[in-house]
Amino acid sequence: MSALQEEEVLSVHHWTDSLFTFTTTRDSSLRFSNGHFTMIGLRVDGKPLLRAYSIVSANYEDHLEFLSIKVPDGPLTSRLQHIKVGDKIVVGRKPTGTLVTDYLLPGKRLYLLSTGTGLAPFMSIIRDPDAYEKFDQIILVHGVRTVDELAYHDLLVEHLPNHEFLGDLVSSKLRYYPTVTREQYKTMGRVTDLISSGKLFNDLNVPEINAAEDRVMICGSPAMLRDLKKMLEDRGFAEGNTSTPGHFVIERAFAEQ
Ligand SMILES: Cc1cc2nc3c(=O)[nH]c(=O)nc-3n(C[C@H](O)[C@H](O)[C@H](O)COP(=O)(O)OP(=O)(O)OC[C@H]3O[C@@H](n4cnc5c(N)ncnc54)[C@H](O)[C@@H]3O)c2cc1C
Repeated sequence: MSALQEEEVLSVHHWTDSLFTFTTTRDSSLRFSNGHFTMIGLRVDGKPLLRAYSIVSANYEDHLEFLSIKVPDGPLTSRLQHIKVGDKIVVGRKPTGTLVTDYLLPGKRLYLLSTGTGLAPFMSIIRDPDAYEKFDQIILVHGVRTVDELAYHDLLVEHLPNHEFLGDLVSSKLRYYPTVTREQYKTMGRVTDLISSGKLFNDLNVPEINAAEDRVMICGSPAMLRDLKKMLEDRGFAEGNTSTPGHFVIERAFAEQ
């Protein structure tokens, strides 16, 4: 069987000039865990041009969804941003990654800390009923520069709490904390500053983050991962991976050139 599958674009939504979302058909044999990423892309001159993408949709849904940056002159996204309903994209058949709740030790609260497109894998985890079985509370933090970059805000605030199957779990267990750095907003500041100052915990009315009770997943820029990893390790958190569960796991939202 080929390592790549062709899928058809079902919908496209542009959030901003630099951020968009699209859904595609899903081959019924494609298996993945919520939080996984896979290689996706386009055929250019007959050859696949692929990049890693987190899967936004949950693993029980019959379509796939992705959240994408538009990098000016980016080899893939300068093309991908023009896709339309009915176009074909290429999807890798081997999803993988470390942002999986199985790679965390049991805990009370699950923090999902993201910036930019780092939100993508967490959109699938917050729609996973198993994640709510494992944790009393799930705290989703999304840091962006401008308010219009708060992708999925309305889904998180309005639609999911009223969802037919997930509504009760989301209403009782999910806390969503959007934060903006370059515009006025009700909650502002960098994720790292919100943690080091304790503002995040005060605003949410929860205890300071601690290794005895809290588990953390992080997805953001390489610099954000480095800073948060150090902050957690200074507080006694140990990193988990696919073979040994820990107090936190991390994944890059993109690689630095
Ligand atoms: C594990 C993993 C998961 C990823 N998941 C996603 C995802 O869900 N959505 C997504 O849009 N991208 C994601 N990426 C990044 C993605 O693989 C590509 O880099 C991106 O699509 C741009 O491709 P490109 O060919 O246009 O430019 P590239 O040549 O790949 O990137 C050029 C430069 O643009 C910047 N850049 C790339 N991606 C981003 C981004 N997402 N946010 C901010 N700056 C960026 C970086 O500085 C990079 O060096 C992921 C990367 C990794 C390693």
